[in-house]
Amino acid sequence: MLSSLLMLVESNSDAGASAVGLLIVTLALYFVPSLVGTMKKKRNAGAIFAVNLFLGWTVIGWIVAMVWALTNDAPVVQVNQNYYGQPAPPAGSVGDRFCQRCGAHMGSRGICPRCTPALA
Ligand SMILES: [Zn+2]
Repeated sequence: MLSSLLMLVESNSDAGASAVGLLIVTLALYFVPSLVGTMKKKRNAGAIFAVNLFLGWTVIGWIVAMVWALTNDAPVVQVNQNYYGQPAPPAGSVGDRFCQRCGAHMGSRGICPRCTPALA
């Protein structure tokens, strides 16, 4: 009697453990797109996670999130010119400032030659 009860408890706990294991494996597979997006340091990893979380259950949403996570981010293009299309001086050089009104390079004196030509 006692041994059969123990066996029942044991088999139930095994079933419970395997159910928990199945749940963990399913959740891990469900969030693979989010993991891939995070590991690839995608700029929109948050959006991928949102699609994964809210639409992943539709399978199509999961595939969209997965494909999105696997694409490469477009490279960041740094435009080295001011408002007028003039090339900007190297970034970080001391004393480089641009006029907040017209975008012209002001030089070390901090006076815009375009807006205040009399002073420059
Ligand atoms: Zn100016």
